[in-house]
Amino acid sequence: MTLTARPGLDLSDLKAWLSTGRLNHVAGEWRSAASGATFPVVNPADFKEVLADFPASSPEDVQAAIEAASQAQRGWASTPAPQRGAVIARAIAMLRDQVELLAHVLSWECGKVIAEARIEVNRGINAMEYLNAEARRLHGQTIPSEQPGMFAYTTRRPVGVVALVTPWNFPFAIPAWKLVPALVAGNAVVLKPAEQTPLCAALIVRAFVEAGLGAGVLNLVHGDGQVGAALVEDPGVKAVSFTGSTAVGKRINQVAAGRLAKVQLELGGKNAAIVMADADVELAAREIAVAAWGSTGQRCTATSRVIVDRRVARPLVERLMAHAQAIKVGPGLDEDNTMGPLVNQEALEKVERYMGIARQEGATLAYGGHRMGGEYKKGYFFEPTLLTGVRPEHAVACEEVFGPVLAVIEVDSIDEALSVANEVDYGLSSAIFTRDIHQAFAYAERVATGLAHVNCATVFSEVHLPFGGMKDSGFGGREMGPSALDFYTETQTTYLKHG
Ligand code: NAP
Ligand code: MG
Repeated sequence: MTLTARPGLDLSDLKAWLSTGRLNHVAGEWRSAASGATFPVVNPADFKEVLADFPASSPEDVQAAIEAASQAQRGWASTPAPQRGAVIARAIAMLRDQVELLAHVLSWECGKVIAEARIEVNRGINAMEYLNAEARRLHGQTIPSEQPGMFAYTTRRPVGVVALVTPWNFPFAIPAWKLVPALVAGNAVVLKPAEQTPLCAALIVRAFVEAGLGAGVLNLVHGDGQVGAALVEDPGVKAVSFTGSTAVGKRINQVAAGRLAKVQLELGGKNAAIVMADADVELAAREIAVAAWGSTGQRCTATSRVIVDRRVARPLVERLMAHAQAIKVGPGLDEDNTMGPLVNQEALEKVERYMGIARQEGATLAYGGHRMGGEYKKGYFFEPTLLTGVRPEHAVACEEVFGPVLAVIEVDSIDEALSVANEVDYGLSSAIFTRDIHQAFAYAERVATGLAHVNCATVFSEVHLPFGGMKDSGFGGREMGPSALDFYTETQTTYLKHG
C-alpha cells in the first residue's frame, strides 16, 4: 500500500482497515465480494501507487445488499424521524472530526488539490447538516375538507429501498448529500460509488456504522458500471438517485421506467460564461479561470465555453492567459500546487482526442493543449488549455470534454450570445458578466440552465438552494434546497370521517 501521510496525519488505523479487504458493507457486516474478486485503486498523480484492493462485487453481492436493505427498511421507517436524525447527527460529527483525513484520501484517490479537497469535505458536511435538520421537519399538511365531519391531511412516507450511484469527481460530497436525505426520510440505502474513488464513500459508511445505524439500513457495494446496472435492474429498488454521465443516466431512466421506479438524474454540462462589452473584464477572467481550470475542469458545473462580445475578446483572452500561466500543476497532496491530474487514462485520452478535433475544425490553441512530460508522465497531467476562434458548431463547443479546456466563442450581441448559450443539448449551469441590469434579467429569463449566475462563476452554489440541470443535464427533481426530500418520500393523503 502506497498511501503516504502528510506530517501530522496518522494513517495507521486506515491502512489496517484497508488491508482487510472487507470493504463492502452488507447486512451490518464488512465483507469481501462473494467471489473474492478485487480491483485496485490507483493514484492519478502517480499511477504506480496502489491504494488498496477493493471488492469487485457481482450481482450476487448486489442482491444480498438489496435483501438486507429490504429487511431493515421497515424498522428504520418506524423509528421516529427525530431519532433517525440523532443517529445521522452522530455520524456527521464523526466525519467533522476527520476532515483532514477525508481531504487527504479524497485528494489521493481523485487527484483534486488538497485545498479543493478540504472545501469539498466541509461543503459535504454542511450539506449533511442542512439536510439532516429535516428530521424535525418531516411534516405534511392539514387541508380543510369540503365534507362536514371529515378531517384530511397528508403525510410523507419513505419510498423503500433506494439505490445511490455516484461519480468520481465529488467522491465525498455527492454520496454525502444523497445519503442523508435518503436516510432521514426513512429509506434503506444501497450505495455504489465510482470505482476510481471508493474510499471516501467507505469512510462515510464507516462513520454511520460507528454512529449506531442498524444493520442493513445502509449498504455499500463496490465495483464497476455492471454493479450499478445490477442495482438499477433489481425490482427491489424503488428509487435510483444517480449522478454521472448523460449516456448512463438515459440508460438508467429507461430501465427504471419499465417498473415505474423513481429516478433522479444529475448529468453532464457544457456550461457557458457570457461576457458582455460592459463587463468588469478583470472579474470575469478571474471567475472564469477558477470555473474552467479548478478541479482540472472535471466539474459538472465547470465553465467550458466563454461567449464573449467581440469588443472585449482581446482583453479577456489576455487576462485568461495570465491566469492559465499562473496555475501550478502537480500532485494534489502538495500544498503548493493549484491544479491536479485528470482522473485516469480514459479521461486523458478523451481530452487529447478533443485537442485533435479542435485543430482539425480550425480552432486556435492560445495556451496549453498537451499532456505534460518529464516527471509528470507518471500521472495523468494535462496543461490548462485555452482555445480561441471556436465556432458554436465545433465539437469542443457542444460536447462535454471534462478536462481543463476552455473554448472562446466571439459574438456581436446579447441575442446572439443567448442563442449560442442555449444551442447545446446540456442545460446545467451558466453565467453572465455585465453591469447592465436589463441584460442581466434578459439572461436570467432566457437562459435554459438549472443554475444561472450574474457576475459570479458557473461553479458557484450553496447547499440550501436547489441544485440541478435542465435538458440533457438533469431529470427527476432537484437535489439540495428546501425540496431535497421530495424525491425520497411519497405523499399519502388521508381522509378521516369522524362526523
Ligand atoms: P459515469 O461513467 O456515468 O459513472 C457514474 C456512476 O455510474 C459510476 O458509479 C459508474 O460506475 C456507474 N455506472 C456506469 N455505468 C452504469 C450503468 N450502465 N448502470 C448503472 N451505473 C453505471 O460518470 P463518471 O465518469 O463517473 O462522472 C463524470 C460525469 O458525471 C460527467 O458527465 C459529469 O458532468 C457528471 N456529473 C454531473 C453532476 C451533476 O450534478 N449534474 C455532478 C458531478 C458529475 P463506474 O465508475 O464504476 O464505472
Ligand atoms: Mg465511468
